[in-house]
Amino acid sequence: MDLLEYQGKQLFARHGLRVSSGEAVTTVKDAVRAADEVGYPVVVKAQVLIGGRGKAGGVKLAANAEEVREHATNILGMDIRGHTVRTLWIEHASDIASEYYASVLLDRSAKQPLVMFSVEGGVDIEEVAERAPEKLIRHHIDPLAGLSREEAVKIATDGGADGDVVEGVADALLALYEVWLAEDATLAEINPLIVTPAREVKALDAKVSLDGNALYRHPENQELSDSENEDPIERRAKEEGVQYVKLDGDIGILGNGAGLVMSTLDVVAQAGGSPANFLDAGGGSDAEKIKQAVRLILANDAVKAVLFNIFGGITRCDEVAKGLIAAFADIGEDGRSVPFVVRLDGTNDVQGRELLQQAALPNVYTARTMNEAAEKVVALAREQGVGARA
Ligand code: GDP
Ligand code: MN
Repeated sequence: MDLLEYQGKQLFARHGLRVSSGEAVTTVKDAVRAADEVGYPVVVKAQVLIGGRGKAGGVKLAANAEEVREHATNILGMDIRGHTVRTLWIEHASDIASEYYASVLLDRSAKQPLVMFSVEGGVDIEEVAERAPEKLIRHHIDPLAGLSREEAVKIATDGGADGDVVEGVADALLALYEVWLAEDATLAEINPLIVTPAREVKALDAKVSLDGNALYRHPENQELSDSENEDPIERRAKEEGVQYVKLDGDIGILGNGAGLVMSTLDVVAQAGGSPANFLDAGGGSDAEKIKQAVRLILANDAVKAVLFNIFGGITRCDEVAKGLIAAFADIGEDGRSVPFVVRLDGTNDVQGRELLQQAALPNVYTARTMNEAAEKVVALAREQGVGARA
């Protein structure tokens, strides 16, 4: 679960990292009011879940109300690489002497948290890692011992932080590690971590991802996911306890078991199609569950055809077929305009396909193998596409 900059900064502040005070707003009028309150000059910042906002024109300094009005008007509604700006963060502008970089993340291959630090911040850090890898300090942490002050000081020193701010940088690294650990984050990144002319060390940006599976331990963070920036269907799926991930294509994918769904994505891609989602209906086969899954998939307008891939084991294909028939009866005409290809294989697959054939559901096709199903669904999606344009 990714957080907007201002939400990340709220977590930072909770753990003693220095940030500028500010306010999140959604209208030009409120932007000006907030700017009047935090005091000029201010920065007007687009709140979207994507980096590089500055380059895209989504971060602007404003010296007075007139400039805030101008920038807020331009930035609200702006599209930053597919993300529409609905919220602005207005904060008191900082004077900058240096821009550093700091992050904490989980290095899965090392099975340890990794702290990174560089004095070349404010730019794309991948670029620094490539151009001058010695300028990016990478320090693994023993998860049982945690990050000690001595280590944090060494990271800052090795990275080349100015001598007079080594302690300040160490404080920031310790606080950032605490954010990462205490909030169950998977990533906590500050770019830039600035040094002001008054030699204060402060987070000017925040990129935080929280582990969704650990959210139950942080009821106070749960509301952060209610941001309007989240995909509404993903949010609904989460509420209904269904594994659903939205993708960019036009073929809805539904299967029982995460492994099967993943390989279905591959087979569809291989057949030249583009999956619209990942949906794991799980072990059960009851009509209610299938109905719910079918509804979720059809809620995505981009879906032109659906591949329903079931491998029967404990789940019996005839039960799945019954579930599907009941689901279709309930969903009605609207849903049926989207063609479904159903591949049933495994326990009772013959009976399952027979049931579907007897039901003669309009726009529902059966297939015996995964490849056959994938090719069929890709062809159907293409037809739909042509039909829609005609
Ligand atoms: P990003 O482009 O999405 O990473 O957004 P950032 O929050 O990192 O802002 C981009 C750049 O804008 C920073 O690297 C700074 O150079 C500049 N910037 C942001 N806030 C301030 C500020 O308060 N004062 C000044 N002088 N520059 C700022
Ligand atoms: Mn940044």
